[in-house]
Amino acid sequence: MCAQAPARPSESQLAQAARIIREGGVVAFPTETVYGLGADATCPEAVARVFEIKNRPRFDPLIVHVADAPAARALAAPWPQAAQRLADRFWPGPVTLVLPRRAEVIPDIVTAGLPTVAIRVPDHPVAIELIRLAGVPIAAPSANRFGSVSPTTAAHVRESLGNAVDFILDGGPCRAGVESTIISFVGGAPTLLRPGAAPIEEIEALIGPVERAPQRRGGASMADEAPLAPGMLDRHYATATPLHLRGEAPASLDAARCGRLCLAPPADASSWRAVEALSPAGDLRQAAAGLFAAMRRLDALGLDAIIADEFPQTGLGLAINDRLRRASRR
Ligand code: AMP
Ligand code: MG
Repeated sequence: MCAQAPARPSESQLAQAARIIREGGVVAFPTETVYGLGADATCPEAVARVFEIKNRPRFDPLIVHVADAPAARALAAPWPQAAQRLADRFWPGPVTLVLPRRAEVIPDIVTAGLPTVAIRVPDHPVAIELIRLAGVPIAAPSANRFGSVSPTTAAHVRESLGNAVDFILDGGPCRAGVESTIISFVGGAPTLLRPGAAPIEEIEALIGPVERAPQRRGGASMADEAPLAPGMLDRHYATATPLHLRGEAPASLDAARCGRLCLAPPADASSWRAVEALSPAGDLRQAAAGLFAAMRRLDALGLDAIIADEFPQTGLGLAINDRLRRASRR
């Protein structure tokens, strides 16, 4: 077998994508977490198109992507010391910081009117070059329709958004495969808003205990109802095929017509119509990297249901369980 060189856009493709961003267009681009759907974060009209293309409710704020920590500093103030330590240690990387917004730079539409802003520096050469060439911060949610499975390849973006975007930069499959870990530094103690690709254990080792944001019941179908914590909708990352956590699956389901999503192949593998074992070696990073692609493959099989194991609740397992739990809500 010959190893494939990672996809890498040409300089002229990058220049074209950056020009589109500067002119108020919308570009899908790779990051180490998932593919983003980016627009100039300082241009409300451009950002409005991102919400329209995704069909994303306006109350769900976007993450602003910048090329380095000084660029991030220009967008938010004040910076608590703990936030600075996370930036020093994890950027570029999959940690998003929520901080008080400097309103003169980032418009209301990006933050859904909140007096705060979510910022990160992505760890991907294509993303960084795009931001530098565009010369503006890029607001970007995941490049998929709101509520559905996030894209981890350029092909996923094409399947989901096709011609709705102005340009798709192909940087190959995303390394981490789940979204960033979001930590808020607004009001009181640091709070985990979303578990993600940076393990919370590593974050707490650096800054001490991090509070957990309260979870909320309800669904993305209630698109006009703002969640308690912005963007923390209970139903998200959903396949079209019903997905059940194994402990909650209806007993009436026939394994021969269902898919199983698990860490290592189960003893009864042959009784399932399809099995997606995310890491037979038990590596949760590898499992996270393959999670969304496996959900998409199972979703394409016309199954009665997808039955997902609960993963170990440690390291990347927190993010995996979070996505599976939200995908299972109807
Ligand atoms: P996504 O772009 O889909 O990965 O989601 C970005 C998420 O970041 C949102 O759904 C919110 O949960 C969170 N977020 C973004 N901006 C803010 C903010 N200003 N305050 C709190 N959470 C935020
Ligand atoms: Mg998303």
